[in-house]
Amino acid sequence: MRIAVVGAGIVGVTTAYELARDGHQVAVFERRGATAEEASFANAGLVAPGYLTPWDGPGMPGKVFGHLLTRYTRLNIGLPLSGRDLVWMWKFYRACKPETYLAHRSQIQRLAAFSMERLRHITSELKLNYEGSAGCLVLLRSPRDARMMQPGLQVLRDAGVAIQELNPVDARKIEPALNPDLVFHGALHLPEDEVANCRQFALLLKNEAQRRHVEFAFNTTVTEVNSSNNAVVLGIAGENAPRTFDAAVICAGVDSVRLLKHLGLKVPLTAIHGYSISAAIREPINSPVSAIMDERYKVTISRLGNRVRVAGGAELGGSIERKRFSALQTLYKVLHDCFPGCANLSSGVQEWKGARPMLPAGKPIIGASGIAGVWLNLGHGSNGWALSCGSAKILSDLIGGKRPDLDAADFVAGRLRA
Ligand SMILES: Cc1cc2nc3c(=O)[nH]c(=O)nc-3n(C[C@H](O)[C@H](O)[C@H](O)COP(=O)(O)OP(=O)(O)OC[C@H]3O[C@@H](n4cnc5c(N)ncnc54)[C@H](O)[C@@H]3O)c2cc1C
Repeated sequence: MRIAVVGAGIVGVTTAYELARDGHQVAVFERRGATAEEASFANAGLVAPGYLTPWDGPGMPGKVFGHLLTRYTRLNIGLPLSGRDLVWMWKFYRACKPETYLAHRSQIQRLAAFSMERLRHITSELKLNYEGSAGCLVLLRSPRDARMMQPGLQVLRDAGVAIQELNPVDARKIEPALNPDLVFHGALHLPEDEVANCRQFALLLKNEAQRRHVEFAFNTTVTEVNSSNNAVVLGIAGENAPRTFDAAVICAGVDSVRLLKHLGLKVPLTAIHGYSISAAIREPINSPVSAIMDERYKVTISRLGNRVRVAGGAELGGSIERKRFSALQTLYKVLHDCFPGCANLSSGVQEWKGARPMLPAGKPIIGASGIAGVWLNLGHGSNGWALSCGSAKILSDLIGGKRPDLDAADFVAGRLRA
């Protein structure tokens, strides 16, 4: 089949690669000048099947609003709030039920485990070499932080996730550079999780996809997608003649909403903005070995080769251009608390704000859209890197009429017609 993929973030690139591997003729359209320039640009890099949770946990709305009142907040409401944000908040509020939460949690974990297996397979088959390291340490600053983790831990153990509960002395053996003055209650260690450079992987996989004759059209904005007479027709900005394909996959992150609206489909997806800072490591001996998640602030410190990246924050509303000073300050504070002096902050810190494409229940849509020839792979929220390889494999199997190795029923679109 001739298939168009809209978007060259991590989800679009992995999708294009899997489709080409299955023998399809693939063209990718990307409005930016290169791969992974938006949400996939500078994320925390966690590939952590052991530590993924959907957002629709019971009590989450209360936590969201409680956090708005604290100084080093991890959650914010930015202005202006769009109608789409308000609808999302309402659906998120309604999704936060204990009965659905545990089901969503295990569905996402299964997809994440499948995805990690696929990532490892692709990495070894193609001999890809990118920045990364093994293991994730979850820092629990207080007994309260530890207590809050307990119900979730059992779910993880039941799912077969390897987790060690550590006291501070043993935690420091895993991450010896942790600030000796930092007082904390304990930690969880997830040895099978890892951290890796999402953008670097996307760039490498794009090259492999090109070797399989995938065409990448950069600086090319898709303005509309239509389906008629067994064909999918794409309108391209600045081109008079539309382009015709047998099928199209929408992987356009947050902007998928606009393209799908044109088709009469309503997806309750919105942007949850987040931040990262990346800086060169000054002293390797003072730096993290792998990834540390500070559970209190929901901030991750990741070792990516010779750099350290600190990522976190969640902001509904506002704009991608306007960076919130307090959100960035939280990242600097956590870095300073945990690894003071590790990074060279006086020269060239990259401060980044990205938009997580988030659905109210926090799990993606993978599959048919309900419109002939139009397929969806979107809404991966805070876990798009960790879920990308598995989602792409499932989607390619579905398009090829094969039964995916992981049951895709948990991620079907449902009723989207407006
Ligand atoms: C601070 C932060 C930390 C994060 N940490 C992690 C983490 O540790 N682990 C993890 O798994 N995930 C993490 N994430 C989430 C992850 O980054 C996203 O889920 C993922 O990047 C989404 O990928 P995507 O391909 O769907 O979207 P994107 O990367 O945004 O790609 C969509 C692409 O579509 C293009 N596009 C849009 N509209 C059009 C159009 N009309 N025509 C042509 N092109 C178009 C865009 O230019 C863009 O390149 C984090 C996110 C943030 C913000």
